[in-house]
Amino acid sequence: MMRLAAHHVLALESSIVKATSHNGFITKSLNCLSAAFTTGVNATVPGKLHICVVGSGPAGFYTVDRLLKRYGDAVHISVLDRLPTPFGLVRSGVAPDHQDTKNVINQFGSVAADPRVSFHGNVLVGRDVDVSELRALHHAVVLAYGAESDRRLGIPGEEPSVGSTDGGGGGGGGGVFSAREFVWWYNGHPDAAHLPIDLSKVRSVAICGIGNVALDCARALLAPPARFVPTDMAAHALAQLAGRGGPGFGGGGAAGSSVREVHLVARRGPVQAACTPKELKELLTECGVSARTAAPDQLVVSEADAAEMKATRLKRRVHELVTRAVADAAEAAGAGGAAKGAEEEAARRDLFFQFYRNPVEIRREGPDGAVTGLRVERTVVRPDGPGGASVAVGSGEYDTIECQLVLKSIGYKSLPLQGVAFDSRRGVVVHREGRVLKQASPADTLNSGAAAAANGGGAAPATDLGLYVVGWLKRGPTGIIGTNLVDADETAASLVADTDALVRAAEMTHGSAGPPGLGGLSALLRQRGVRVVDWRRWRMLDEQEVAAGRAMGRVREKVTEVREMLRRAGFEMQ
Ligand code: NAP
Repeated sequence: MMRLAAHHVLALESSIVKATSHNGFITKSLNCLSAAFTTGVNATVPGKLHICVVGSGPAGFYTVDRLLKRYGDAVHISVLDRLPTPFGLVRSGVAPDHQDTKNVINQFGSVAADPRVSFHGNVLVGRDVDVSELRALHHAVVLAYGAESDRRLGIPGEEPSVGSTDGGGGGGGGGVFSAREFVWWYNGHPDAAHLPIDLSKVRSVAICGIGNVALDCARALLAPPARFVPTDMAAHALAQLAGRGGPGFGGGGAAGSSVREVHLVARRGPVQAACTPKELKELLTECGVSARTAAPDQLVVSEADAAEMKATRLKRRVHELVTRAVADAAEAAGAGGAAKGAEEEAARRDLFFQFYRNPVEIRREGPDGAVTGLRVERTVVRPDGPGGASVAVGSGEYDTIECQLVLKSIGYKSLPLQGVAFDSRRGVVVHREGRVLKQASPADTLNSGAAAAANGGGAAPATDLGLYVVGWLKRGPTGIIGTNLVDADETAASLVADTDALVRAAEMTHGSAGPPGLGGLSALLRQRGVRVVDWRRWRMLDEQEVAAGRAMGRVREKVTEVREMLRRAGFEMQ
């Protein structure tokens, strides 16, 4: 139960005006609404649809934006995030040198500051509150918590050796991270800020996969550190890339990065590369790298490749970019190679395209199981996949790429949530047009196809009224930030179409006043002692980060520890 705040009163007054043009549920609850006004007692916010969105990344915020537009003042939306900070992938995933992409947070910030929206940071679903509780408190719950795990290669050496404690940078049995972890590390995500990465001990890095995330990692490792100084890259990562005496840092300390070469390991050829031309061009032309291929024949185009390139301009463009960069580097080496001074040679950074190479083993032959190389099998590409899709087929010939650090950039993966139907093979919540399907039984939650089985196998699976999904959790880890707009449209449209049913279902449980919504959620979290970072508190932290950054000529200086985030957000910490 909650006391009506001034902004609720205004919003509710406005909903009265709009009620005549809205469908049944508002008109029905207007009587309760006026009762709440006249009595002035603690009351729920009748007349509103109460929605909870779990996750404050792009998918979550686009969905909130869509729902606000659809419902006008007849809605209140609580947005939850497990971190004290909002914006998910925009803060922790987008590369620091892509600040233009991050500008979308201005739009999301306006949405979050809307009086119809309440942000609740530092609330972990599954620990602080359960999905079932959120459902009982709201008409609808939208899951938008993204993909916070990784696909696995499933090869020997992928896991740290038993008993090892330290990791990356070659020592102690680590030296292998997912690209997500590495991206989180340089972006200052609290879960990855303390990863044992020491680039001073790494000369060569193998990155498995050649999607845009792999290119982000390669840029971070190879580009001159000055590129990242003005950005919001985490200070600990910048210190390693630049050395503490480098640009943006005073005083001695970190030795700086020893990385001289990065190998992009792709199991198929350049025509099948998952990256996009714009991002590839950026790496090849703006970062001072010298591009090579692992073997001279890697850019030879087969008949099938030629057909693919003819059909798709993007594929043609990727092939062109690689070919030109490799030719330019070879020419530069031929023309001035012998005359190069020691300084120029020391500054050189090599980017090796390892096409037609499938990782088969991470070799750990250094002290304490330190990574020494990535063993790969040479492949040929054949149209043996479903519908004639090209797949990599092993040739039985092997090479070893010498490296001290392996980054697995083969795709993110979502995690399941108790009580929600999940396809563990694809790593997505099972849904139809954003409506989550009913799970078979709690025990079957994690089995692929469980939802279908629950409905008699062949029958169309029933949807779980009131539960929705959006973003990478819904469609898998693909697409750019803007892709979530279309996705959010679909999920929001499904929810809006269900409005009458949602209101009827809530009335059965809660009567005409509807579910408690914000008031109930706040009371529950307070009762459990959760330190909720609301929008005002986040802005306190935000302003401090920005001010600290400005003082150093940077976009922001990120706080990377949850405890310190909470302190800066105004909580007393012991
Ligand atoms: P991705 O684009 O799906 O690329 C995954 C890469 O991993 C592919 O090269 C794939 O090769 C390879 N791979 C998958 N499984 C493998 C295995 N078992 N063994 C070896 N290689 C394997 O994924 P991503 O790079 O993580 O990007 C995710 C999404 O975010 C993409 O849509 C991307 O465009 C987007 N993104 C965009 C930007 C940007 O616009 N600047 C930046 C970052 C990310 P195959 O092709 O052979 O399967």
